[in-house]
Amino acid sequence: MSFIQKLIRTNIKKMPGYVSARHLAKSGKIFLDANENAFGAPFGKIEGVDPSRYPDPLSDSLRQKLAKYVGVCQSQILVGNGSDEIIWLLLFAFVERTDNIVVMDPTFSMYRVFADLIGAGVKKVSLEEDYSLDPKKILKAVSAKTKIIFLCSPNNPTGQTLPIKDIEEIAKKSKKIVVVDEAYIEFCPEKSAKKLLKKYPNLIILRTFSKAWGLAGLRVGYGISSEEIIEVLAKVRAPYSVDVLSAKLAEKALLGASKMKAAVKKLLAEKEKLTEDFWKLGLITFPSDANFLLIRFDKGHQVSKVCKGLRDKFGIIVRDFSDKLGLKNCVRISVGTEGENRKLLKALKEML
Ligand code: PMP
Repeated sequence: MSFIQKLIRTNIKKMPGYVSARHLAKSGKIFLDANENAFGAPFGKIEGVDPSRYPDPLSDSLRQKLAKYVGVCQSQILVGNGSDEIIWLLLFAFVERTDNIVVMDPTFSMYRVFADLIGAGVKKVSLEEDYSLDPKKILKAVSAKTKIIFLCSPNNPTGQTLPIKDIEEIAKKSKKIVVVDEAYIEFCPEKSAKKLLKKYPNLIILRTFSKAWGLAGLRVGYGISSEEIIEVLAKVRAPYSVDVLSAKLAEKALLGASKMKAAVKKLLAEKEKLTEDFWKLGLITFPSDANFLLIRFDKGHQVSKVCKGLRDKFGIIVRDFSDKLGLKNCVRISVGTEGENRKLLKALKEML
């Protein structure tokens, strides 16, 4: 038995997965097997799809196009209701209440939230002062109880990517499920850990249509991994978690990849301008590979007051992270359009 099989929760290994109507019969002429409404939706088709019919259980058409886009086999892709769903599936498939997960600190909070829902432990590994991660500290935190290590690259909210050699060291030595959350990777595609997938079947990369693709409202994310991991996640996934319209629109977005890349380029130029302007205002800006900046106000400013002022006086909402470990006086700001960024700077100038 592979070490991955040993990490799967026992009851998940034993149970047969749910078999939906569309698993049983994908093609046919007249579908009378799923208690759908053959008279159709009140508004007929949208975007060429018939919403009166259940979606393909694993969004195979989208999987196929993603596989081509990413450069892996279709069986290595799982589509989810946002990458949040894939995080949840990972916890559900591998983590018992008596197990734990290892996370960076600070990082995206949903890993911890889902572990809390299960009642499992969360081992936090503090980032260094410059927000880099010491892979040795991660490996030291791993115990017999650990099932999953969550790495986030670029990390939310610090914005930094992890060196590939560090991710490799963790994947190689830990013998656990290693998640690399690449929600923001389209903003720095050359830093993806994708090339490690061939060598490490315990690695899973998470991506999303919510950031660079500009489709947060559709709720489509995906995982890229070994067939072995994808198979177990597909077993615990609800069969219709990605709706027909979202899957179709995500496919349409993939056809416009060059437009996405052009928009990313514009955003990166804005990020550079914004960084310079923040420096001019005396704010410390940390290097970011993502579409947001973590900035630190100096001790003379009360961050909560600044955030409140921005919201109440100017209607500008930013995210206060000042109560998180190592993020004293820090605020995370998403890079907006040129106009939005100018308004933010004007507001900050008035307040500081
Ligand atoms: N991972 C990271 C690092 C994120 O920042 C987010 C969203 N803020 C997600 C995952 C979840 O993205 P999705 O919209 O695909 O669920």
